[in-house]
Amino acid sequence: SSFESLHLAPALVRATADLGWIKPTPIQLDAIPPARDGRDVLACAQTGSGKTGGFLLPLMHRLLASHKKATRALILTPTRELAAQVHADFTELAKHTTLRGAAIFGGVGMGPQESAFRHKVDVIIATPGRLLDHLGQPGKYVDFSALEILVLDEADRMLDMGFLPAIKQVLRQIPSQRQTLFFSATLPAPIVELSKQMLKDPARLNV
Ligand code: AMP
Repeated sequence: SSFESLHLAPALVRATADLGWIKPTPIQLDAIPPARDGRDVLACAQTGSGKTGGFLLPLMHRLLASHKKATRALILTPTRELAAQVHADFTELAKHTTLRGAAIFGGVGMGPQESAFRHKVDVIIATPGRLLDHLGQPGKYVDFSALEILVLDEADRMLDMGFLPAIKQVLRQIPSQRQTLFFSATLPAPIVELSKQMLKDPARLNV
């Protein structure tokens, strides 16, 4: 099977070819069709499986299907390293498009990140703690009113790191009418519980 057969925007297929991705990985083959069609997804996927492409490609395909100057997708990751890696993959896959993304994590200045929010970049890739810092700022410059897609990447690790309250607080500040893609390496009871609260009739992959 090939990326061409997954009915993704041609600009995205070209980017996969530029990256030397010859064919989709198993998680990409499973995740892309339902996510591209707007379904929620619950995916059990390990690092190294190609999971990042598994959520970025359908997410980007959906954003490219209509144009809007707004932040339309939010990707939550447990660590700044992972946020930076997802942002790097996004930038590679977006190279033939006008989609813009920003990585939002702690340990660096708030100012440049604030301007990314103000410019309404299409995709925010954030760690929960720093995102909450921005949501609590007096300027109220974070606008998630047009958010269409939420991704949890490595959900189990986010819970291990104590981010459950932060995730719940973020959920209160984004539209409940949205698509949610939930990726986790393991599915212990608290993760299953959270996924039940967040997902509507999800496609279950490798579960
Ligand atoms: P991930 O599991 O998303 O961290 O991806 C692991 C590695 O596989 C990264 O270096 C990706 O660039 C690479 N990769 C992702 N999808 C593919 C693919 N379809 N073919 C070849 N390499 C890939």
